[in-house]
Amino acid sequence: MAFSADSILVLLDVTPGGELAKSSAGLLGAAAAVGSPVALVVAPDGRLDALAQAAAALGAGAVLTAPREESALGVPVVDALAAAVTRVQPDAVLVSNSTESRDVAGRLAARMRAALAVDAVGVARDDEGIVAHHSVYGGAYSVTSAATFGPLVITVRQGAVDARADSAPLTVEALAVTPSGVPAARIDAVDEVVVSSTRPELRGAAKVVSGGRGLGSPEKFALVEQLADALGAAVGASRAAVDAGYVPYAHQVGQTGVSVSPQLYIALGISGAIQHKAGMQTAKTIVAINKDADAPIFEVADFGVVGDLFTVVPQLIEALDAKKA
Ligand code: FAD
Repeated sequence: MAFSADSILVLLDVTPGGELAKSSAGLLGAAAAVGSPVALVVAPDGRLDALAQAAAALGAGAVLTAPREESALGVPVVDALAAAVTRVQPDAVLVSNSTESRDVAGRLAARMRAALAVDAVGVARDDEGIVAHHSVYGGAYSVTSAATFGPLVITVRQGAVDARADSAPLTVEALAVTPSGVPAARIDAVDEVVVSSTRPELRGAAKVVSGGRGLGSPEKFALVEQLADALGAAVGASRAAVDAGYVPYAHQVGQTGVSVSPQLYIALGISGAIQHKAGMQTAKTIVAINKDADAPIFEVADFGVVGDLFTVVPQLIEALDAKKA
């Protein structure tokens, strides 16, 4: 197979259940906007055909596949990605900023002496090649990074890219990979955590409703969940709400929690500390409800309500329910 001169190589994450991760559509959308997307899927043998088809449906003009032992972590993916870079000679390599792929990106960049740009919120092409856009220092600055030579390896924040690629006819190549022999971490056991919630997962959710210390107690935090359910949104929280035991840490948004880039972010009783803003400031529309008109959250909000959330939110839920009826 011959690859276009403007190829963008995209590593697609595969979930433990053997599906393409939700981040795949955004990665391929970003790649299609700046070049010709070539996907790489590394997964247990029996899953590769279905995954390649799914990748083409999301816009991969060519799909490279490489088998992987289910229990091996990291290294086999780096080996495959390095082989794919040699094969495709891409202008850039895009990977998800997920826990495993961040690690893969760092290892690949070190191995290939390539430049690494982490946690990008967008990619573009200028006269000299591919550049990555980042939102840094809690969203206070937007910066651009580029490589002086070689393909730029970019990790892309999940949910940050809205662009979607048109589906492409399936063109697959089984990639020849020579194992590097670098010791790989092994997965001994997987304990599946069954999430009984019908709410969307926070990471990558299109809508997020978050609550802060202003909620006052775990019982009252239920109001955040009620608004989330009325909107079909995921539930987030500030660190103060997590530390006070209103919700588990998995819901924490911010510098030491999850970074989200939803279409809609509603902050209830959250002051807007820089560490919180770091994780939500790239949301497309931000709504804040806070009784303190001087709360810093209003500096980043597109819409703000100065008022007691226990008065405002029930009315909001009522209005949403009335619209559905
Ligand atoms: P507060 O700052 O106490 O704000 C509560 C707000 O609720 C106030 O603005 C108040 O006016 C409002 N309020 C109270 N009652 C009502 C009511 N009835 N109606 C409407 N509004 C009401 N924080 C994070 O969120 N995420 C992180 O990842 C994170 N990482 C951190 C990392 C480090 C190293 C450090 C030092 C701090 C970190 N923090 C993080 C903590 C951060 O600095 C703030 O302390 C925290 O975000 C405050 O949470 P909050 O806004 O819920 O609480």
